[in-house]
Amino acid sequence: MNTILLGPPGAGKGTLAAMLKDNFGVLHISTGDLLREEMKGGTDFGKEIKKYVDSGALVPDEIVIKMIENKLSHKDKSPKGYMLDGFPRTEVQAKDLDRILKKIDRPIDFALYMEASLPVILQRLTGRRVCRKCGAISHIKNRPSKRPGICDHCDGELYQRPDDTEETILNRMQVYAEKTAPIVDYYAKQDKLETVSGDEETEELLKTVTKIWNDGHQSYKAKSAERN
Ligand SMILES: [Zn+2]
Repeated sequence: MNTILLGPPGAGKGTLAAMLKDNFGVLHISTGDLLREEMKGGTDFGKEIKKYVDSGALVPDEIVIKMIENKLSHKDKSPKGYMLDGFPRTEVQAKDLDRILKKIDRPIDFALYMEASLPVILQRLTGRRVCRKCGAISHIKNRPSKRPGICDHCDGELYQRPDDTEETILNRMQVYAEKTAPIVDYYAKQDKLETVSGDEETEELLKTVTKIWNDGHQSYKAKSAERN
């Protein structure tokens, strides 16, 4: 099954990605990770990417798409399918991506949209704490460390990332609503959207996702015909 993960910041796409990887053996392609990989490899391509990143500029869409194309051109490296995470973020990118996936004959089966309510997103992100030393993530309510402010793994100091404050989150949500939310419609119009709720507990979520995975994506028409 080939899929794209969509959803607002804090909906829990990380949890969902881990679930798909662990339970279905799907190749997780995070564009952020891909960029870091290329830069570490020190190839000409990687050096070009580094120039953009070092200057604080956005890496151009063509480069990101090229990277995805390279990664997905070998079907045997992801026999169980792939999930794209972090791309596309705009409708233009979604269209470009569709074109490339068609060219290499690896179209998506559906886009997996993880929706979540604003109170849940705010609670999740504002309570998140990161270890300065090892990067481990905890949460003051949902997954508290044994000693407040201190990492369970390495005794490092826990801190709140500057983009996890309420004000920044609301800003990020607004950017998301303007740029990324239209993609959800884009896939819905093509009848390629599956929606799961990020408000669900992990166990419930796994049940929902497993059902989608086992049944495969059915068109809305087929689904509503079933219901009626
Ligand atoms: Zn730590």
